Amino acid sequence: MSKKKVSYFYHSDVGNYHYSTEHPMKPHRIRMANELIKIYGLHNKMQIFSPKIEQFGVREMTKFHSDEYIKFLKLITPETQDQFQRQMNSFNVGEDSPVFVGLFDFCKISSAGSVEGASKLNLGKSDIAINWAGGLHHAKTDQASGFCYVNDIVLGILELLKYHNRVLYIDIDIHHGDGVEEAFYTTDRVMTCSFHKYGSGYFPGTGNIKDVGYKGGKNYSVNFPLDDGMDDETYVKFFKKTITAVMDFYQPNAIVMQCGADSLSGDRLGCFNLTLKGHGECVKFIRSYNKPLLVLGGGGYTIKNVSRCWAYETSLLIDQTELPNELPIHEFYNYYTPVYQLHLEPLYMPNKNDSLVLEKHFQEIYENLKDLIPSPSNGERFRPPDLLINESEFETDEFLNEKSDFRFTEKEFNSQVQPFNEFYESPNYRQKNKLWVKKSIEDVVQKYKFDSAFNNKILESFNIVNNFNNINEIEKERKKENVIKERKEEKERKERKEKESKQKERTERREKESK
Ligand SMILES: [Zn+2]
Repeated sequence: MSKKKVSYFYHSDVGNYHYSTEHPMKPHRIRMANELIKIYGLHNKMQIFSPKIEQFGVREMTKFHSDEYIKFLKLITPETQDQFQRQMNSFNVGEDSPVFVGLFDFCKISSAGSVEGASKLNLGKSDIAINWAGGLHHAKTDQASGFCYVNDIVLGILELLKYHNRVLYIDIDIHHGDGVEEAFYTTDRVMTCSFHKYGSGYFPGTGNIKDVGYKGGKNYSVNFPLDDGMDDETYVKFFKKTITAVMDFYQPNAIVMQCGADSLSGDRLGCFNLTLKGHGECVKFIRSYNKPLLVLGGGGYTIKNVSRCWAYETSLLIDQTELPNELPIHEFYNYYTPVYQLHLEPLYMPNKNDSLVLEKHFQEIYENLKDLIPSPSNGERFRPPDLLINESEFETDEFLNEKSDFRFTEKEFNSQVQPFNEFYESPNYRQKNKLWVKKSIEDVVQKYKFDSAFNNKILESFNIVNNFNNINEIEKERKKENVIKERKEEKERKERKEKESKQKERTERREKESK
C-alpha cells in the first residue's frame, strides 16, 4: 500500500476524565491506546498534534448543537446539577450520560480533534487523520445520549463538507450511529452507513434496514442490522460487499470512519465475536480506497481490548508491518492480564447471524443504492469559512515526555480520577442497562420538521437557536454573585494591607524612638 501522510490527534489530559466508578465509559482507555502506540513506536510515522482546545468552544459546537444545550454543558458541574433538574431531564443528562468534573473540556478535546483532523484533510495536509477520542455518535442536537454529549463526528463532517461534495460516514461500532444518521437524514451530501446489532431492545433501538433517509436524503442512509455472536469471516464478507456497492454508487470525496471497539469479542456491553483481525480488516479495506480519511474512536467497554484495537488499527493506517504479538512491557502492562498479547482469540459462542438472512439484507441495500439519482456533482458551492484556521503546532516533545502515570489538570480531579485498581470491570452493568424503546422514524422526521432538502446553506441552518433564557438568567445571576464576592474580597484585602502597613509604620517609629 502507498505511503500516506497520517496525522494523529491526542490530548494528554483525556485519560484524566472520569464518568464515575461504576460507569462503563472509561476515557482512560484512550491513554492506554496511546501508550501502546508509543511503546510500539508507531508515533514515529505520524504527525502528532494536540487538539487546540483553547480555540474550540461554544461557537464551534453550536454549528450543530443548540445554543442552550451547549451553554448548559458548559455551565453544569456535579455540585450544581441539583439546581438544574429540569434542564437535566430535557437534555437527557444524568444517569447514562452523567455530569462529571471537566465534562465540557472533555467534549472540547474530543470535538476539536475531529474538526482539526477534518481541517487537515480539507487543506491536503494529511491523507488520514486519527482521533481516538472522537467517534461519539449518539449525541443529538439538543440531547446527550449513550455516554455522548457533543457529536464530534457531525462537526467533523460539517467541516469536510466545506471542501468535499460527498462525504461517506461508516460506523462499525456495535451500536447504531443514530446521532450522525439523524443529522444528515435529509441530505444526499452525506451518506451514512452503519453496521450494528439490531433488535431485542438493544440500544439505541434505531437502525432498521427500512430506514433509508428522507426526502432529499432518501436512500442515502444505509443500515445493516446484525445479531449476536457475529464472527470475523461473516462480518468482513458483508462489510466489503456493502461498502463496495456504496463506493461504486455514491463515489464519496472523503470518508469518515467510526471504529467503535464494542463490536469486539468479550466487550462489556457488546455481544459480537470479532477479533482485532476482523475489525481491523474493515479499516484496512477503507484505507485502500485512497480517499481523504478521518478515523475516529467510539464505544468500547472492555478497555484492555479497546486499546489493543486502536493501537493495531493505527499500525494498519500507517501501513506498519505486523506488530509483535507479545505486548512490550510498559506502564499499563498489568491491565492485559491474563494474556499479555496484542491479538484476541474469539470466544466460543454461537453466531446467530444466518448467512441467508444477511444476503437478503445485502440485496435490499443494493436495490436501494442502484436507484440513487446521480450524486451531487462538483459544482461551485457556498463555502463557509474554515472553523479552525490556526495551524496546530507540533506537540511531539510534550507527547513523548508525557508521563504515563495519572496526571491531573489544574482541576480537582483528585476525587474523580480513575481509581488505580480498575483493571477489572465491575459486573452487572449489562443487567442494569435499560431496555431501550425503539424510536420510530416518524418521531425523528417530526422532530426535525424536515421541510427542505439539504442545501448550500445547511451548515448555518444546523445552528438551531431557541430561546431558553433560563440558563442565561442563572448564568447572569452567578456572574453577578461572583462579581460581588470578588469586590468584597478585594475590599478585605485592601483593609488588611492598610492595617499591616500601619502596624509596620508604628513598629518602625517605636524602633527609632528607642534608638
Ligand atoms: Zn457502541
